[in-house]
Amino acid sequence: MKIRYRLALLFSVIVASIVLIFSFITYVLYADYRNDEFYKRLKHKAQTTARLLADVKEVDKDLLRIIDQNTINELYKEKVIIYDKDNDLIYSSIDDEVISIDKQLLDKVRTNKYIEYVEKENEVIGLFYRENGANYVVFVSAFDKYGKRKMENLMYFLSLSSLISILITVAAGIFFSGRAIDPIIEINKQVSILTVDNLSSRVKTHGSRDEIDQLAQNFNQMLDRIEHSIKVQKSFINNASHELRTPLAVINSQLDVALSKNRENVDYVIILQSLQEDARKMTNLVNTMLVLAKSEEQQHTILNDFIRLDELILSVQDELISLYPNYTVDFSYVSMPESDSYMTVKGNELLLRSAFMNLMENACKFSNSHLVKVRINSDHDNLVVHIYDNGIGIPEEDVSRIFDPFYRADNGRQIRGFGIGLSICKRAIDLHDGKISVKSQLNAGSTFTLVFKHV
Ligand code: ADP
Repeated sequence: MKIRYRLALLFSVIVASIVLIFSFITYVLYADYRNDEFYKRLKHKAQTTARLLADVKEVDKDLLRIIDQNTINELYKEKVIIYDKDNDLIYSSIDDEVISIDKQLLDKVRTNKYIEYVEKENEVIGLFYRENGANYVVFVSAFDKYGKRKMENLMYFLSLSSLISILITVAAGIFFSGRAIDPIIEINKQVSILTVDNLSSRVKTHGSRDEIDQLAQNFNQMLDRIEHSIKVQKSFINNASHELRTPLAVINSQLDVALSKNRENVDYVIILQSLQEDARKMTNLVNTMLVLAKSEEQQHTILNDFIRLDELILSVQDELISLYPNYTVDFSYVSMPESDSYMTVKGNELLLRSAFMNLMENACKFSNSHLVKVRINSDHDNLVVHIYDNGIGIPEEDVSRIFDPFYRADNGRQIRGFGIGLSICKRAIDLHDGKISVKSQLNAGSTFTLVFKHV
């Protein structure tokens, strides 16, 4: 069942229950009141009649009957009968219709002094009356025609008003729950037309800051992120295939040139070294991309190494220098770490190695001195690494984009590269809950700062 109808039903059931309980209580209380009231009247009638019979000597039965009959409109179908102490019937207001009274009942009245009961549709009271030597048992019976009719009317009004209130509640429930659900239906409609190729449209928000508007806003923010990551993914795949094709073409043409004629040994060595460098870069790139792809699915299983960052940097330094003997790495601690754990982060060694390799290689690659300075520092909470160079710097307008895949600043285009290293580096640092930032001045140098939480 739709939420709209479920809400309306729930709302109606609650209100209907309240209305019915209220009507029921009103009816029961009124019935009780009528009962009391009527028995009081019967009792009063019994007392008056008995008193007349006992006190006023001149009143005989016939006169009493006349008095009774003249006040008969007081009580409908009224019957009064009186027995004396010997159980003899001494008075009956109507001769032909006598209430059936047996001896047991008379004794019961004498013992209890007063009883009430119902006979057929009539209410009856029995009263033991003793005064001035008189000793009577009086029965008065009557039908509460007006009271019962009032009860019927009350029942009718309560039923009708309950029914009308329930109908109004159902209608109001459907209307208001519809109004409450409408924005969700609207969101649903808009969401259902979204596809991967049509992620640019957004759910309308009204700025009302209610829960539904917040849902729409959160949904839009989620769409922003999805759209961004799909864009990145698409351009990544486009660019990655394109960029991988370029070095492969270079490798092929180098091989063609090399094989086109017989060469000196030293030429072969130069060509093979160049091929080796391209192959190594491509291997690194492909390996890192594979780890990153895996990290999307298995974040928890790939981030389980405990890595001493200072040792990792020293090992990257060795690797870098063995590949490029003309590069220099100047590594030092800002202050000595208090304990091993201050230098240790939890994560994936291959990812961090490739991140540091890329940053340190860039620093050397984009500076004439081919010198990179690495400073490591840690305090109670964080482990901070600064990577400085005095190179060409990054133009201000490019700083915010260098972490985008395949983005290369104009001033470094003549230097070899794929433009993918920093985006992979950023992704790797993000996966480690770290932060990377850059400050740069054109033709003066750049500083990359990495902040991690140590273990
Ligand atoms: P690549 O180095 O292969 O071009 P990266 O993703 O590592 O790719 O870097 C992206 C771009 O950022 C570089 O092309 C360059 O323009 C700029 N860049 C990165 N590091 C530095 C640096 N230390 N000095 C100057 N520019 C840099």
